[in-house]
Amino acid sequence: MKYLGTLRAMKLASLATVVMVQASGCSSPTAHGSNVDQGNIEWPGYGLDANEQRFSPATQIGPDTIGRLGLAWSYDLPAEAALEATPLEVAGTIFFSGSMGVIYAVDAVTGKEKWTYDPEAGPKEEHGQRMIYPVNRGVAYWDNKVYVATRDGRIVAVDAGTGKLAWSQQALIPGDGSTSTGAPRVFKGKVIIGNSGAEVGARGYVTALDAKTGKFAWRFFTVPGDPSKGFENEAMAMAAKTWSGEWWKYGGGGTPWNAMTYDAELNQILIGTGNGGPYASKFRAKGMQDNLFVTSVVALDPDTGKYKWHYQYNPLDVWDYKATMDIVLTDLTIKGQRRKVLMQAPSNGFFYVIDRTNGKLISAEKIGKVNWAERIDLKTGRPVENPDARYEKGPYTVYPGLIGAHNWQAMAYNPQTGLVYIPYIQLGTTFWHSAEEEAMLPKRKKGFWNLGVLNQGAADPKDPMDGRGSLLAWDPVAQKLRWRVDYKSWWNGGVMTTATNLVFQGLETGELVAYDGNTGKRLWSFDAKMGIMAPPITYTVNHKQYVSVLAGYGGTGGDGSVLDRKTVSWAFDAPRRLLTFALDAKGNLPKNDTIPLAATADLIDQPGLTLAPRKVAQGEYLYNSSCVACHGVAAKAVGGAPDLRASAAAADRETFGTILKDGALATRGMPRFDDLNTEEVDAVYQYIRSTARAAKANGAGKP
Ligand code: CA
Repeated sequence: MKYLGTLRAMKLASLATVVMVQASGCSSPTAHGSNVDQGNIEWPGYGLDANEQRFSPATQIGPDTIGRLGLAWSYDLPAEAALEATPLEVAGTIFFSGSMGVIYAVDAVTGKEKWTYDPEAGPKEEHGQRMIYPVNRGVAYWDNKVYVATRDGRIVAVDAGTGKLAWSQQALIPGDGSTSTGAPRVFKGKVIIGNSGAEVGARGYVTALDAKTGKFAWRFFTVPGDPSKGFENEAMAMAAKTWSGEWWKYGGGGTPWNAMTYDAELNQILIGTGNGGPYASKFRAKGMQDNLFVTSVVALDPDTGKYKWHYQYNPLDVWDYKATMDIVLTDLTIKGQRRKVLMQAPSNGFFYVIDRTNGKLISAEKIGKVNWAERIDLKTGRPVENPDARYEKGPYTVYPGLIGAHNWQAMAYNPQTGLVYIPYIQLGTTFWHSAEEEAMLPKRKKGFWNLGVLNQGAADPKDPMDGRGSLLAWDPVAQKLRWRVDYKSWWNGGVMTTATNLVFQGLETGELVAYDGNTGKRLWSFDAKMGIMAPPITYTVNHKQYVSVLAGYGGTGGDGSVLDRKTVSWAFDAPRRLLTFALDAKGNLPKNDTIPLAATADLIDQPGLTLAPRKVAQGEYLYNSSCVACHGVAAKAVGGAPDLRASAAAADRETFGTILKDGALATRGMPRFDDLNTEEVDAVYQYIRSTARAAKANGAGKP
């Protein structure tokens, strides 16, 4: 079986190598800042408030004072790696989650630790959780409780004052192979979480529990299950008419792993659903069928979980396009009419404004390089697709690729400037069908990837913006770009904006930057000496304003597979921190801060070790179906996990086997692989040793 070095597994992996491209109105600004008491402005929810605009009314830090902004304190996180969480600030305490769902409570003024709570998600892991690197996008706060959703599928509620467990309840279906990485949301006395895992056979759903007791409230599946078992509700019966074959055997996908916005005004919760699974549509549709509710926004009754309406961005997704990016609510004046809208930049590269009273599309325009569709037909609400984009006639390089033009990194909306600030990514993916891959699909090991198709990351060497990211300032009324800042790196952080019209964003290169939200002028930056993915927040305590952000690289962009990452790679053991800034603060990062790049890792080769080509090939297949997600393409890690080519534990065959078989490092997020037999473990081991040998022979590693 020949895989041509193709990375079957991850979206991440799909970015592996550069390949040649084959084919070639204004909102009504309320006076948010000036009439808000500046004494204690909190950041109590994931997107700040229920509308998830990430617009803070704080005004102390502005264009005229930001020159005085400095590091107030830093809080070291030696047990952490990839940090994606939006911290919350409530009544002088910052709450956030680490990569394995540990909750931290830190004094918001001094940075002193108050308590930590470890839900022990690592040792409890089922095999299903191995498809995703350990990340957690944050906690929820309500009524003196802090909530975290764990990788093994629980929601855990902890007393905000003491850090003592209040309750812990299963929210995901045990053993269904899905996991959880999102931040739960609390609304109307309930706490809700969705699942991940479309690539390993999951069926998407959200579960709501009683926030006080943890008691089950309701569940809504986003795609239909096995019809012979009966549908859960009318919405599923309706959705099932858009599916064919035995899709339920492969899960179907639609996993709502991030976006869940509570619309208090219209009494509904809006869920953003994920891609179809497997990517090969023949397993779930006959010809062109929509596959509801994949890649959609679905409105549910918050009390019952009953379906209200939906809008589907991508009928029959075959590109890993997902609507899991944050959903932002506001009112906009469009063509003289006041409209209640939701705004979303799903991964497919369009920016959508949708009437949130009924799910009808108002407008949609491309925010960047998009070739899968010509436009979105505003009459039908459906895309006008490029006929080649479904790669039925042969390989096709689609933009955006499966990483998306926008991913989970939050955008922010400033009602004063009327602009949405979007972390944008320009990358393609080449997709093609493979009979071998289709044949392997039913034999997919639990928690291992198989998409039913093959793919590879693509960047056109003639396009200087390919493989790069930008910050876009987008006018949602005019559907036009107002300004942009382009970066060398693409896996940059989420965004926050303030009533002084500042925009803050952390970058993959380790800087936290502030811009003038009207012009995009760079006003301030700080070198965090660590890649930042998480969105910053701001808050005030006793009339003093702070800006806070988690610095910790990893996740989707941290797998080492992306283009030439030599300038942006962070070692697994480089320090992770919570950093907090204030005016006139003059703190420094702890001394002896080393920034060991993975590119200079001390590679280990054992000249005496004989590698068998057949074993190496077998190991490569297994490695690329799972390990690659965290440890990187050809075992070249850049921050999300240790570089196995340089790890003494991985170099010792016995220790290596123990880690895989017994889950010795489960608490650090390394899953157990006890269903691999000795021969398979040996194969993975040999493959990793071969990558170290090859890299060394090519002159990589320390001199
Ligand atoms: Ca996906």
